[in-house]
This record gives sequence, C-alpha cells and structure tokens, in this order.
Amino acid sequence: MAWYTIRRDCCGAVQRVQIYGPRDTRQARANRSEMRPCQTCRRERRAVDAEQAAQQAAGQAELDGLPTLTGTDRQVAWALVLRDNTITKVLSLATAPGATPAHLDWLLDRICARTDAAWWIDHRAGLPRDDHCWTALRASLTDEQKAEFAALGKESRP
Ligand SMILES: [Zn+2]
Repeated sequence: MAWYTIRRDCCGAVQRVQIYGPRDTRQARANRSEMRPCQTCRRERRAVDAEQAAQQAAGQAELDGLPTLTGTDRQVAWALVLRDNTITKVLSLATAPGATPAHLDWLLDRICARTDAAWWIDHRAGLPRDDHCWTALRASLTDEQKAEFAALGKESRP
C-alpha cells in the first residue's frame, strides 16, 4: 500500500489516494485513477441525472394528463420517476398473452389514484413487476372481464 498524489481530470482536484497491490503497477493505477471522476463530481453527476429524470417524468406526466402528485418538491420529483417507471412496466403488459385494453386501463386507473408522493417512495421496493400486476389484475376482474379473458382463449399465465 502506498499513497499517491493525483490530479483528477474531471475538475482538477488534487487528492491523496491509497494504491494497493503490486508495487510495479501502482503508478499506472494511480494514473488511471486520475481519469475517474472524483466523489464530488460523481455526486454532482448523479444529482444532474436525477434532475433530468425528474424533468423528463414530469414532462411525460403532463403529456399523459396524469394527476399531480402531492408532497415536498424532492418527494414529488422522485415519485414522478417511480410512477413513470411503473407505467412503462405496466404498458409492457400490452403485449402479454391475454392482455386487453380494459386490463391496462384498470392498472393505469390504480396508478393514477395514487397521488401522494410519499406512497410511491415508501413502496418503491415493491412496485409492480409484471407478475404483481397480473396478480392484482386477476384478483380484480369482474365476471364480465373474466369472460372476456376466457374468450381470448390464449392466456398463458396462471
Ligand atoms: Zn472532480
């Protein structure tokens, strides 16, 4: 282990870094670490990415006429992205065997009913994967919808 002084390419920050491992390759590895962004630049980059994702999700929500989310600015920005990702997953069901526009509408109605940003954040780990969507979907079908489902005759999911 040894300490090397490096100058980050990202912002010119001069830093001391520890380099481990074989002595003869340490300098080369120290040089390579200059090319990697420093922690501050990585954090800024993540913040910019998150901001862009939030703006994109907000724009899409506006285009789609989705309900406004409530919460702090930070909560809303985050929840917009979570909701947008969830809708994208749900829309992928459109190509699932047996899916009908009515099923997708049902799911989208439930997504739109959730307007508290905190709910999206609290439940982010369990946001619907396709199978969850289907479980919820199946449990909610009316007799009419079940008949419609059966009539499709090509359903492959249990
Ligand atoms: Zn930097």
